[in-house]
Amino acid sequence: MKKITVFCGSSFGTEIEYEEQAYLLGKTLAERNIGLVYGGANVGLMGAVANGAIENRGEVIGVLPHFLQNKEIAHTGLTELVLVETMHERKTKMNDLSDGVIALPGGFGTLEEFFEMLTWAQLGLHKKPIAILNIYGFYDELIAMIETMVKKGFLKPVNQSMLLINNDINDLLDQMANYEAPVVGKWIAKDEV
Ligand code: AMP
Repeated sequence: MKKITVFCGSSFGTEIEYEEQAYLLGKTLAERNIGLVYGGANVGLMGAVANGAIENRGEVIGVLPHFLQNKEIAHTGLTELVLVETMHERKTKMNDLSDGVIALPGGFGTLEEFFEMLTWAQLGLHKKPIAILNIYGFYDELIAMIETMVKKGFLKPVNQSMLLINNDINDLLDQMANYEAPVVGKWIAKDEV
């Protein structure tokens, strides 16, 4: 993996571990020579992950829509800031630039971006690893909900297995590096699974 997209909150959240692990993820990406692609802002966990990479001489590409430039204050220390017109263009650009995705704790924006990338994987539009860094159990309830989707027949186990989850940064990056997308997709007959 040459570059990874990180989706995360534009806030810091309540636990100090969120910020600490976001910074450490940026630092670890830099140390592993993996470029960071993210939303381009210098707020909340977005700023923390970028700073972790920048302060350890990592490559950081921010992708920010023009209209958010003043609200999500653009980070000034990036390797490159790509300005786009729309939110859709932002996600498409981030997907084009990267070889995988990691979600850190966040709100609606984080989940929207993350699940779109996951659904693109499910539809076979890309074969990149999609992962959650489950810092301090933040995503435990979401993971339980995904189990419910499988139990209640709305999500196939093969599609569930496309979502990589770990609470350790290096273990998660290793999992992503070894990931191979399943050959079967969402739209296949039940008896073919
Ligand atoms: P949040 O998790 O709500 O703090 O948002 C995190 C990031 O997601 C911010 O950079 C938001 O601008 C971004 N975001 C929110 N909605 C969307 C969307 N529909 N498409 C792309 N990015 C979004």
